[in-house]
Amino acid sequence: MTYRPSFAEIDLNVIRNNYQLSCQQAPASKQLAVIKANAYGHGAVQVAKQLEDIAPAFAVAFIDEALALREAGIRSPILIMEGFFRAQELSLASEKGFWLMLHSPEQIEMLEKTPLPSPLNCWLKVDTGMHRLGILPEHVPAILERLTKRGKLAQSPVLATHMANAEEMNNPLNQRQIDRLRQLGKDTNSPLSQANSAALMQLPASHSNWNRPGIMLYGCSPLVQRSEQIGLQPAMSVYSEIIAIRELKKGDAVGYGGCWQARKPSRIATLAIGYGDGYPRSTDSQCEVFLHGQRATVAGSVSMDMLGVDISHIPEARVGDKVELWGNNIPVTELARRVNTLSYELLTRVNQRLPKHFV
Ligand code: PLP
Repeated sequence: MTYRPSFAEIDLNVIRNNYQLSCQQAPASKQLAVIKANAYGHGAVQVAKQLEDIAPAFAVAFIDEALALREAGIRSPILIMEGFFRAQELSLASEKGFWLMLHSPEQIEMLEKTPLPSPLNCWLKVDTGMHRLGILPEHVPAILERLTKRGKLAQSPVLATHMANAEEMNNPLNQRQIDRLRQLGKDTNSPLSQANSAALMQLPASHSNWNRPGIMLYGCSPLVQRSEQIGLQPAMSVYSEIIAIRELKKGDAVGYGGCWQARKPSRIATLAIGYGDGYPRSTDSQCEVFLHGQRATVAGSVSMDMLGVDISHIPEARVGDKVELWGNNIPVTELARRVNTLSYELLTRVNQRLPKHFV
């Protein structure tokens, strides 16, 4: 039970449909559903339960995220994309049936040295040009040989890489990353994994045995037009309520620092949501909300629990009215652009404090 009038509404059927649309982009591949960071703020357990009969595997960042899913009863394979940090995680991974994506020489050494009850399902992350994590392509064949000799591998590892610029269709690094991974796959006769959402949507050459869509499952993408073309729908809408209305005279200021000043007599609504719930704290970003079938602009700096909205053009607005902060009318990608960030950041910032209503 929660008494707050502010909440995030998550439509799990929309996520299911978006996942199915992601599969249609690459029917010959398997699609691993990326549900790290609490399924990009949507609730990892609920999303996993919704997808477990159609997704062959899930991916998270760390072992703690994978353990939380197992504890909630999720039985599917779970890939841990940052691999592991301590030797004891290896036996835990083997016991719980997690797949580990190994990306560093240190992790390989630890795996070689640690006695395990049974071989592990490992993936190898290869640095094909992003230069963040990954084993250099020229070191991969020897590593595969060493791990096979020591009996550490349950099966031939998937060679995975992450694309640095997939949303820029014509960026020359895309083809270089694709070529490097393909060549390595041929040389070592290994299965491959490369495409994230943007690559899945617009770089068919990057499709391989396993694609790893994340953001598109939640209905967002840096490729706004392409998302619309393939029918992705936003899965999260954030709502709040008007809890007070102020009539301001010309020159009156709103909120901390008084950075918004009425240029004419104005009507300001205070909403019960703020940066403490994950709404971006901005002072001058022209962010908009949606109520009574119209958009209205945020007025003044966003506080921890509240924000002001100029509703001068909506005389029918009253205390208790429902307001959309983002969702079908205010795309989260649009809001993110206004505050100079990405939908990924706004979605993953939605925290425990904001109740989630699943529909
Ligand atoms: N694969 C890896 C290794 C990632 O780190 C991520 C997300 O950051 C993804 C796949 C999914 O990417 P996207 O959400 O852009 O589809």
